[in-house]
Amino acid sequence: MKVDLANAPIKFVKGIGPSAAEKLERLHIETVADMLGYFPFRYENNESVDLSQAAHDTRVNVIGEIVTPAMVAYFGPKRNRLTFKLKVDHLVVQITFFNQAYLKSKLNVGEQIRVSGKWDRARQAISASKYFLVSGSETESDEKKLEPVYHMTEGLKQSQFQKWLKTTWEAYHEQIPELLPESLRQHYQLIDSHDAYEAIHYPTDPGVLLQARRRYTYEELLLFQLKMQLMRQRDKEQSGGISIQYDVQELRRYIASLPFELTGAQKRVVNEICGDMRSVTHMNRLLQGDVGSGKTVVASIAMFSAINAGFQAALMVPTEILAEQHFAELTRLLTPFNISVALLTGSTKKKDRVQLHEQLANGSLDVLIGTHALIQEDVVYHRLGLVVTDEQHRFGVNQRRAFREKGEQPDVLFMTATPIPRTLAITAFGEMDVSVINELPAGRKPIVTQWFKHEQMPDVLAFTRNEIASGRQIYMVAPLIEESENMDLQNAFDLHQQMQQYFGDKIPIGLMHGRLKSAEKEAVMQAFEAGDIKMLVTTTVIEVGVNVPNASTMIIYDAERFGLSQLHQLRGRVGRGGYQSYCYLVADPKTDNGKERMQIMCESNDGFVISQRDLELRGAGDFFGNKQSGIPQFKVADLVEDYRVLEVARDDAMAIVKEKRFKTKEYQALAAAVEHQLAVEAGQLD
Ligand code: ADP
Ligand code: MG
Repeated sequence: MKVDLANAPIKFVKGIGPSAAEKLERLHIETVADMLGYFPFRYENNESVDLSQAAHDTRVNVIGEIVTPAMVAYFGPKRNRLTFKLKVDHLVVQITFFNQAYLKSKLNVGEQIRVSGKWDRARQAISASKYFLVSGSETESDEKKLEPVYHMTEGLKQSQFQKWLKTTWEAYHEQIPELLPESLRQHYQLIDSHDAYEAIHYPTDPGVLLQARRRYTYEELLLFQLKMQLMRQRDKEQSGGISIQYDVQELRRYIASLPFELTGAQKRVVNEICGDMRSVTHMNRLLQGDVGSGKTVVASIAMFSAINAGFQAALMVPTEILAEQHFAELTRLLTPFNISVALLTGSTKKKDRVQLHEQLANGSLDVLIGTHALIQEDVVYHRLGLVVTDEQHRFGVNQRRAFREKGEQPDVLFMTATPIPRTLAITAFGEMDVSVINELPAGRKPIVTQWFKHEQMPDVLAFTRNEIASGRQIYMVAPLIEESENMDLQNAFDLHQQMQQYFGDKIPIGLMHGRLKSAEKEAVMQAFEAGDIKMLVTTTVIEVGVNVPNASTMIIYDAERFGLSQLHQLRGRVGRGGYQSYCYLVADPKTDNGKERMQIMCESNDGFVISQRDLELRGAGDFFGNKQSGIPQFKVADLVEDYRVLEVARDDAMAIVKEKRFKTKEYQALAAAVEHQLAVEAGQLD
């Protein structure tokens, strides 16, 4: 009888009762499929080592003969130490087990055992964690060399878990379903599903484990890409998309009114975006462009088009500071064309809010700019045609889809200045179209980046004094301490004070941090923009999007505490006017990784290069820093290492969707698995 393992509760497995099931649930194991799909996170290599060569303090595994009886010393309830001597090759070493006095009766002189533990070279001793009797017939080559290790939770032992796994395996392994069609498996010479699971849980040698890993990586990435491609296709097919019929002549006039000529890259992405907006299919587009590449102006063109065609547009950003800046910029650009622009944030007064809501609902307001407040439930739009988000790459797939539920399926444009390495772009944003501005406006001077040790701070400050004297302004970013916002603040306070002491009363120095009230922040920002404040000491609240062209110098204090992409973002706050600009990294990194980051920053100004290096240094998991990134957690696949497989999987997924292979019998199992995952994720939307 065929059992659907995904719907077979683990507690009904013979030998696993409700109390075991309860423990397993803590590992998110609820079904037989979950159990069999719970993979080891690493393997211990049980190959015997040559002790005379083994390094001090490493984990070793040896076979030897017991040469002295086991002795136990007690030093407290449940606290004891068992010792005996083991002859390994020509060495006699001391073996110690802690708190396992009960082993005494099992360890007899003359017996062969295998022991694993930590090697103390000086004392010629092993602090043991495990032992096995070696039966007479066991030879070296019979040894199980790779032992899986699973992530456990409190109150659940590795050995207990493995027993339950074995029980489950024995009862159900023959029913492990095969998702991959025979033709694909043959094409890539992949082992079948059953053998892959077997090799993962019970590897006989490293070769077969590699085969299993290869197969599972492909399966995992193919499933993921299929999901993305299906979502993409369905978005396109869905009826009810709007066509934004703007007047081309008027759009031209708007573009001609800009104080500069668009770069070639800007023109290209404007064409891509406007093409999407005109067509009846939904726009679902990611606009990537390095800091300063001119995304805001592109967004304003898209908004102009929407409004010209009789729709409303909304721009959503992550912080109030950024909202205010965009509001100022877009007001300047759009109001001359009789377009009304308003700002809505968490700190908008109730009275104003009510009025804004009204204007939005009756259509008298054209453009609304703000933070998350924009998509609250009580915000009703008259005719929302376009939603733009800036710096929202931290949003996951589901949140991105949620935007579209506002209004009548508006077109959506996501902008990000964190260039996303191709690998991640096709993973995290696989369901979107991507436009890239890969060119900076002409005449920009590359920012000069230098790395200084803390002891060189006087040089940095002397230079800073000169820049201020010649009329420029300075940012100084206080270190980020992730564990504690308070410490962050303290750092900013201290630095601010030190700078005031150093520069004296004549040079006004501002302080900006996340705890300031929104009106206070705005006041500080305005003073800095107006040039009344010469130097702004700030925490990372300044990170995204802030635009003060007169600022020429960015000093990042304790720069080793920042990730590469973040450093690049911060650096992008300067070099926005015509002035030669500078970025000073003040850091004494202690790790090689930290030093490398400083060097990369000094060598490159290219956001794509930097993000690729960032990804390599940090690994995909940490790249976006949180779970909201939309980067799925893969069990086996590694987005950096398995980059090639990812590309192959994506091409295959596109072909499968395009050729409608899901309708064929061969693809039935795969289709069902993908649909199941899509349904589960859609359910999470609620
Ligand atoms: P981003 O948001 O991509 O970091 P912005 O849109 O803030 O960049 O643009 C940075 C600066 O460059 C702004 O002052 C903007 O007015 C200016 N800018 C944008 N496009 C051009 C262009 N084609 N030529 C000259 N300056 C431009
Ligand atoms: Mg911007």
